[in-house]
Amino acid sequence: MNSAAQKFVDDLPGIKQDEIKTCAICKRGVAHDGNFLIWRLRFDRAALNPRGIQQQYGLEQMLGSPALARIMGTNPDIAKVIDGPCDVWVCEQCVLERMPQLFAIAESEGAKP
Ligand SMILES: [Zn+2]
Repeated sequence: MNSAAQKFVDDLPGIKQDEIKTCAICKRGVAHDGNFLIWRLRFDRAALNPRGIQQQYGLEQMLGSPALARIMGTNPDIAKVIDGPCDVWVCEQCVLERMPQLFAIAESEGAKP
């Protein structure tokens, strides 16, 4: 790895060795393919919050604008986290070969694969 690449990696948020697990799909180490890109998929399971939804929807109806209600309202919780976060590790090879849609979504959401 050249010094520019190392500088790039140095500036990224860190993950310790004991946080990294084997690939959830192929069951091998996440770096088994020699690629230095690995994936941590972080999941939260959430339940919609009827009271928060009703509160926000009511304000939207009263003001006549969802955008205005977002600014003027109390920003209630629309959902509540039940479980999570749950981390699942996947190697780059499995993401590319077995989860191409996930790869495309991550790329469009700003991940830099
Ligand atoms: Zn894998």
